[in-house]
Amino acid sequence: MAMKLLFNELSQSDYSGRIHNDGWFPVAEIELVEGPDGRINAILAGGDTVLVTGTMNCGVRLPCDRCCEPVNIDLIAEFSYECIFGSEDIDDGRHEKECREEELNRIYLEEPVIDIGAMCREQLYLALPSRVLCDESCKGLCPRCGADLNSDPCECESTTSASPFSVLRQLSER
Ligand SMILES: [Zn+2]
Ligand SMILES: [Zn+2]
Repeated sequence: MAMKLLFNELSQSDYSGRIHNDGWFPVAEIELVEGPDGRINAILAGGDTVLVTGTMNCGVRLPCDRCCEPVNIDLIAEFSYECIFGSEDIDDGRHEKECREEELNRIYLEEPVIDIGAMCREQLYLALPSRVLCDESCKGLCPRCGADLNSDPCECESTTSASPFSVLRQLSER
């Protein structure tokens, strides 16, 4: 099953199917660990409009923002799209009020074909966390020598601030 839906097919029956990766997942940019998996449902709601709802989950591996160690993250997306065949210009305004529903994404299609893969990819990017941390208390990398301060404390700090030893030395020199 290619992940494209034709309006024609939907006029015969509603669609319900599993999400799988037939090439839409951007593996070059995001490391995939598990999935993607999920479900897509689509119904024809009038001759030129299809409503698509879905849930998708997958496991990805992203680098920690502070120390760059890989972190496994489960992503879950729930989404709905209103897909309209025809340009925005010929939309007669009957959708104006519904526009306030921010949850609903609206897509205008040049052809009566819905690209499920493109939808899933968009949802994947929307589901990515804005901040990735291996641990809330991650100490990150030393800005001077690049050592991972979680496992490998370096000497850089002690040269910039007075260490207890230098204080002792000053005392003993009196
Ligand atoms: Zn980290
Ligand atoms: Zn250092």
